[in-house]
Amino acid sequence: MNPPQRPIVAIRGLRKSFGEHTVLHGIDLDVQVSQVVVVIGPSGSGKSTLLRCCNGLETPDSGRVEICGHVLADAGRMLAEPALNQLREDAGMVFQSFNLFPHLSVIDNITVGPRKVRGTPRHEAQAQAMVLLEKVGLVAKAHAMPASLSGGQKQRVAIARALAMQPKVMLFDEPTSALDPELVGEVLQVMKLLASEGMTMLVVTHEMDFAREVADVVVVMDAGAIVESGPPQAIFTNPTQARTRDFLHAVLSRA
Ligand code: ADP
Ligand code: MG
Repeated sequence: MNPPQRPIVAIRGLRKSFGEHTVLHGIDLDVQVSQVVVVIGPSGSGKSTLLRCCNGLETPDSGRVEICGHVLADAGRMLAEPALNQLREDAGMVFQSFNLFPHLSVIDNITVGPRKVRGTPRHEAQAQAMVLLEKVGLVAKAHAMPASLSGGQKQRVAIARALAMQPKVMLFDEPTSALDPELVGEVLQVMKLLASEGMTMLVVTHEMDFAREVADVVVVMDAGAIVESGPPQAIFTNPTQARTRDFLHAVLSRA
């Protein structure tokens, strides 16, 4: 028998407050290598804060966050530079709002990280970027400026930019929520491709079909806590918690 692998993301007792408002009430969550874990739940339930605590954009008040072998946070102490930067390379993040550099072309958006952080020579970084643009279907846009792209194209560039740092896990925070409905599919398709290639992914989304089809584990959050988690089949067809049923009823009746 193979020894059990260590989870690539291990979160224990994660608590986070903003002032008086406790946003995360002690989260425990594991993500195994090559797993796709999809986090769902109502707006304001703490999903973004959870992801932001996974790459050092927020400092947890207490609990432990270990990612890719780095102890990012433990009992309120945070990992410092340069290990924090290494962690951010290992854990790529894609945001709802794309966050491309508006003054850089598509290919420069993708190569700037490898060149500035890794010292990768320009021609090498550009060759890698073209491979990534091929993957996300945007070779023809290599020299376009972000402002000329559709939202779906911008988000695919943002994914390619994250991949350029050769992350070990990808964090997605509602990557399709800012898109017109007809552009959602092209981004989900890229995410499905990554999943099929074995990328480890922690994904916050309201796309229930994606969760059903791609997730290994669906985690339901409400009011700063994990209500339940399990394989999509169990969560979608046989949820054990009333709060899961209410949430699914609300999102699925909207669709
Ligand atoms: P979700 O992503 O599930 O919608 P968030 O993690 O964004 O939830 O937010 C959870 C709660 O924390 C919300 O009530 C939000 O207003 C609050 N919150 C998030 N970020 C901050 C912040 N930087 N300062 C104060 N309150 C915040
Ligand atoms: Mg959010």
